[in-house]
Amino acid sequence: MQMNVEKIWSETLLLLEIALTEVAFNSLISKLSPVSFEKNTLSLQAVEDFFKTTITSRYLPEITRCVRTVTNTDAEVIITSPEDFRVSTKKTAADYAKTNLRQKYTFESFVKGKSNELAYAAAIAVAEAPGKSSYNPLFLYGGVGLGKTHLVQSIGNFVVEQSPDLKVVYQSTESFTNELITAIREKSTQNFKAKYRSCDLLLLDDIQFLERTVETQEEMFHTFNTLYNDNKQIVLTSDQPPKELTTIEKRLTTRFSMGLIVDVTMPDYETRTAILEKKLALERLVIPDSVKEFIIRNVVSNIRDLEGALNKVTAYARLTNTPITLELAEQALKDQVEGSKKPEITISYIQQIVSGHYNITIDDINGRKRTKNIVFPRQIAMYLCRKLIEGVSLPQVGTAFGGRDHTTVMHSCDKIANDLDNDINLRDVVLDLERRIKGDV
Ligand code: ADP
Ligand code: MG
Repeated sequence: MQMNVEKIWSETLLLLEIALTEVAFNSLISKLSPVSFEKNTLSLQAVEDFFKTTITSRYLPEITRCVRTVTNTDAEVIITSPEDFRVSTKKTAADYAKTNLRQKYTFESFVKGKSNELAYAAAIAVAEAPGKSSYNPLFLYGGVGLGKTHLVQSIGNFVVEQSPDLKVVYQSTESFTNELITAIREKSTQNFKAKYRSCDLLLLDDIQFLERTVETQEEMFHTFNTLYNDNKQIVLTSDQPPKELTTIEKRLTTRFSMGLIVDVTMPDYETRTAILEKKLALERLVIPDSVKEFIIRNVVSNIRDLEGALNKVTAYARLTNTPITLELAEQALKDQVEGSKKPEITISYIQQIVSGHYNITIDDINGRKRTKNIVFPRQIAMYLCRKLIEGVSLPQVGTAFGGRDHTTVMHSCDKIANDLDNDINLRDVVLDLERRIKGDV
């Protein structure tokens, strides 16, 4: 099977994560970006020369070994750094921006849904006329793995493509801060300023990581003002809206709020399906519908996890040399899914929870005893069955409760509903039972 570079690298990472120490993996290996896989050579880029040297001297054999396992070839690996490009040729503005932008993050590869349509529309508007719309700055916020980086880089890729003369700078706020600190230390802040204050489009990702230090916030303030006053476009992303960024100076957060603030949230089931389908199509992968559904239903945290789950399943199949089936997916995603799997709500499950709470047995609930300490829990259980199990009928409940008549069930439900209207304490008890039955606690 033909594999693209992203995929080779993501599967290699799974192996390296196991093979290397956590520190080495997190601080060095996971920060490499796959660049190309050509002539049987995988090219990876380190963020700077120092990392390139360290990784090449210490980890190249292990990386090569894992890449060979994944690709099933005798591939070679080379590590590059941005410095390599700088000395070799003089780069145009567009080329420079591209080194920081990942090509796969485009508007075309982004799936629209209710959860992100405003953010998407705003991103397009900004990309089509940087600095000219009233969306300046554009501030995108939302939880991790929901597509902020994808969108913001799509703007960058679009502008680089459409207007190669415009100077686009995409940077994570962490790197922005590190560059500034290095510049201050090496007394070369002129270069730093030249880079950030003279661009046409500044994309700063994860602004919540802006350092608290006076110098960093001061520099950000001037960068912002210079660009803003020159009608240059600024796009920022964050995990929270500006006013909740308490570690950032007020004068900055008020400026961040001057344009348009939009959030992205977790896509619904349909959009998640569309995203997974798109990814499968892009990678020319086919997996059974049951596996698709399993992943979409069970991975509800964010899109990054959704993609991770898919990668894990395909890697697992490749490594064990078996076809992708539902059983294999369940096995591969065991750790991710188990904790979040909620019990299915059934009549007997409700009886179990309610009888446990009132310290009686399930036989009591289904039996004939008519003492208050048993009748009451029985009625509560019936009420909860009707409330929590979609489509369950009165006769079905009656039958399951020791073969009772449906009118008994109806009477019980009415009685409890009435009690709930008049008894605050009972409401608390029932609410708590409901939560336990739904697995929300
Ligand atoms: P964030 O920056 O919000 O943490 P990312 O932009 O890194 O999230 O998204 C995580 C992954 O999910 C990326 O691989 C991205 O391509 C993918 N993704 C997120 N949202 C979408 C979407 N709507 N359509 C396609 N891919 C998406
Ligand atoms: Mg991001």
